[in-house]
Amino acid sequence: MKIAILKETKTYEKRVAVTPDIVKSLLKAGFTCAVQHDAGEKSSLLNTDYEKAGAQVVADVKTLLADADVVLKVNAPTLEEVAQMREGAVSISFLYAYTQPELVQALNAKKISAFSMDAVPRTTKAQSMDALSSQANLAGYKAVLLGANALGKIFPLMMTAAGTIKPSRVLIFGAGVAGLQAIATAKRLGAVVEVTDVRPETKEQVESLGGKFLSVEGMEANKSEGGYAKEVSAEFLQKQQDLIKQRIKDADIVITTALVMGKKAPILVTEEMVKSMKTGSVIVDMAVESGGNCALSEANQTVVKNGVTIIGESNLPALLATNASDLYAKNISTLLLHLANKDGFKWELEEEITKGSLITHQGQLVHAFTKSILK
Ligand code: NAD
Repeated sequence: MKIAILKETKTYEKRVAVTPDIVKSLLKAGFTCAVQHDAGEKSSLLNTDYEKAGAQVVADVKTLLADADVVLKVNAPTLEEVAQMREGAVSISFLYAYTQPELVQALNAKKISAFSMDAVPRTTKAQSMDALSSQANLAGYKAVLLGANALGKIFPLMMTAAGTIKPSRVLIFGAGVAGLQAIATAKRLGAVVEVTDVRPETKEQVESLGGKFLSVEGMEANKSEGGYAKEVSAEFLQKQQDLIKQRIKDADIVITTALVMGKKAPILVTEEMVKSMKTGSVIVDMAVESGGNCALSEANQTVVKNGVTIIGESNLPALLATNASDLYAKNISTLLLHLANKDGFKWELEEEITKGSLITHQGQLVHAFTKSILK
């Protein structure tokens, strides 16, 4: 089977789906690999690195796609790329299918079997294929560094001959994958960290990292299923808002990562709250791409509102492209090797990981959520 690794075309993207090390392991498994010219350049991976690993480097994307059995990318293929894929090929990438009806229709019309990395179930068995987690983890780290860089203060307590500097205070919304890494990073830098989440089970995780968990009365009722938050009551959200209003006034940095799977990001930091924050403080809104947790954040912009810097960087993993590509390449190749061997795909449609991540197959919309969205 021939694998094609495409160069990413999305603005600001620096990652690549497969690294030369992973090319080697795919070749060992019996696949052949061809990579688009300069695909790894922005992750500091040269064409010669891919050639040394045993991949063919191809300049023309049309030639590359014409006979590829499997097409690997970080971001979803473009409509143009889909048009150039051969009928019945397999595509694996982030797809966010529920936000891309036109693309899903195009993949389906071309009878492409499209797997979506963002739909791989977050189960123990699929952990090594979980690209959402590997990328969110790096993003949580980078969010703290971006915030720290925009702040005119240091994080740790520092006693100097000229006086004592108080530690910075970081308030984090959401203690999922990104949030937990943000807590760990902010603590390592010496900040005082407070955290709010709706899931009661996150309290222990936050505390084990040295963060202070902001408990809200009635949390026990929000216990989650499968590690994802479910929608919580308006009454609970109001109590959480009342508590946040008090705590946000003292924060130097706010990092928001709150997400309810399949829903628009909840607005948790209102305009009024931003107005109540200290001049010079910083908000990093990690949820900006799904609508934002802060009412005033703008995607891919850094804006200053009422003296508060609000960072809306929507592709933090791309700012750590070397690590992000390494981890993504491991995730996508593990998924591929789970689904296929050199002779072809197994097509066990009821198998948990296949069922969770396969969106279109043989001209059918096979995923439950595409059926409801593409009516
Ligand atoms: P996750 O599902 O692991 O964590 C989300 C957390 O938010 C959960 O712990 C959930 O309980 C919590 N939450 C839900 N509603 C809340 C509320 N009202 N108040 C407080 N907490 C609440 O998700 P993740 O993988 O950590 O990703 C978090 C966010 O970061 C997502 O929006 C994701 O799209 C985004 N993200 C952004 C970038 C970027 O580059 N900007 C990169 C990766 C992830």
